[in-house]
Amino acid sequence: MYDVIVVGGGNAALCAALAAREKVQKVLVLERAPEEQAGGNSRFTAGLMRVAYAGVEDLKRAIPDLTAEEIARTDFGTYTEEQFLDDMARVTEYRCDPDLTEILVKRSLETLEWMRTKAVRFTAAWGRQAFNIGGRFKFWGGLTVEAVGGGPGLVASLTSAARKNGIEIRYGARATGLIADDDGVRGVRVKRAGKTTEVRAKAVVLAAGGFQANSEWRARYLGPGWELAKVRGTRFNTGDVIRMALDAGAAPAGNWSGCHAVAWERNAPEFGDLAIGDQFQKHSYPWGVYLNAHGRRFVDEGADFRNYTYAKYGRVILAQPGQFAWQVFDAKVKAQLRDEYKIRQVTRRVAGTLEDLVKQLDDVDAEAALEELKRYNAAVRRDIPFNPNVKDGRCTQGLAIPKSNWANTLDTPPFEAYAVTCGITFTFGGLRINADAQVLDTDGAPIPGLFAAGELVGGIFWFNYPGGTGLTNGAVFGRIAGASAARC
Ligand SMILES: Cc1cc2nc3c(=O)[nH]c(=O)nc-3n(C[C@H](O)[C@H](O)[C@H](O)COP(=O)(O)OP(=O)(O)OC[C@H]3O[C@@H](n4cnc5c(N)ncnc54)[C@H](O)[C@@H]3O)c2cc1C
Repeated sequence: MYDVIVVGGGNAALCAALAAREKVQKVLVLERAPEEQAGGNSRFTAGLMRVAYAGVEDLKRAIPDLTAEEIARTDFGTYTEEQFLDDMARVTEYRCDPDLTEILVKRSLETLEWMRTKAVRFTAAWGRQAFNIGGRFKFWGGLTVEAVGGGPGLVASLTSAARKNGIEIRYGARATGLIADDDGVRGVRVKRAGKTTEVRAKAVVLAAGGFQANSEWRARYLGPGWELAKVRGTRFNTGDVIRMALDAGAAPAGNWSGCHAVAWERNAPEFGDLAIGDQFQKHSYPWGVYLNAHGRRFVDEGADFRNYTYAKYGRVILAQPGQFAWQVFDAKVKAQLRDEYKIRQVTRRVAGTLEDLVKQLDDVDAEAALEELKRYNAAVRRDIPFNPNVKDGRCTQGLAIPKSNWANTLDTPPFEAYAVTCGITFTFGGLRINADAQVLDTDGAPIPGLFAAGELVGGIFWFNYPGGTGLTNGAVFGRIAGASAARC
């Protein structure tokens, strides 16, 4: 008999297990994946975590080893609780659950501080979220902190802390059902090495991810065509655990037809590859333009900072003919392209003229594409200076689909194009929880002994998502769920 069983082996689960272990002795983690593939989507991430801070003194609570020299050469600005709340409200079109969102935001910094006590180390994301202008880095888009070692580093630190704290982890252990009666949940049915057993506990925390790796559920809930998306992360998040909870009377919540999905290498494999991590993503589109099979632009590439558009543009790419698009850049922005453009596994075309480039774009109407690029070039407001650190207002004029910021003309060879499709990250629909991370039933009452955190909770993200919020969400509610479960 365990005090707490945690289902899942990613960031939310490990934070839940560590928080529970602060109060009780016997904590068990059930991870469906074998050890070498363990860690869920969390392991695929860059480890970026959105956190509210009022200035560098706050940041030092998460990153105490920031040096005076680093502070002198960086403009960290602020990312206040109000800004974080505003971003959540704006990008979710004011649907995000107000109580859960407030907890997410207000407990973000203290949760990172708590993770530090579990030997997780953080640093500032200079490489990804700041540009060096005139010798000084300036952070933009509210995303400043990343775990040292990215997602793999984060999962390794949490796993090692769990082991040091005497938490038992069973790999290859797939939860298949909840043991429950009228008095609540009493344990989990587990299939491991072909054998099903029952494991009992005073409380169970569910932190087993969304259903994005289940193509049938994708087509069923997200809609026709979603079975054609590629899965960016783990193959193990197939919605089993959401189903288990619904079967036990839990209430569904949130945006069941919504998900986080991005521009992803067109020829990437069906599921994520841990050796590549998140590098199949292609997130420098604000510096270029998109073209579809008809040779047409179809989205405002510069509508906002990448952090606020990338998670909804995967859906837009999926809706294009053939479910693909090309991102086109010229040499002026080459140095600004993110690291992921430099990997070997890219579908890239390079040419000295736009005429030659469009002919090389597989499955694209080349003539229409050339006309579109010329139309775009002619529409750029060259009188407005380009500045990647702010929404510079350098826009196009008179196009049916505008580019609102960072509209550079494509005029400097060599020209480059990258083929992308839709990569799904995680689904937004899930279970309903309250402020103590208790799972609620369809009458709105807590199910005794059942808690949830992370990707499989619904109601927090809708339509879109501010980059770096998934890990913070998992950590904040994982910690709450673990502590609540330990009180049972
Ligand atoms: C490529 C990529 C890059 C990303 N980058 C970032 C980023 O930089 N910052 C950020 O905040 N977010 C990022 N995200 C999103 C982030 O990964 C998720 O929001 C977050 O990791 C979810 O954490 P979780 O613990 O809820 O789920 P996961 O980390 O996915 O963990 C779920 C766990 O449940 C296990 N499981 C599933 N079914 C069962 C079962 N039946 N029984 C037992 N165990 C089961 C899985 O094996 C897995 O270990 C990224 C995602 C991807 C795919």
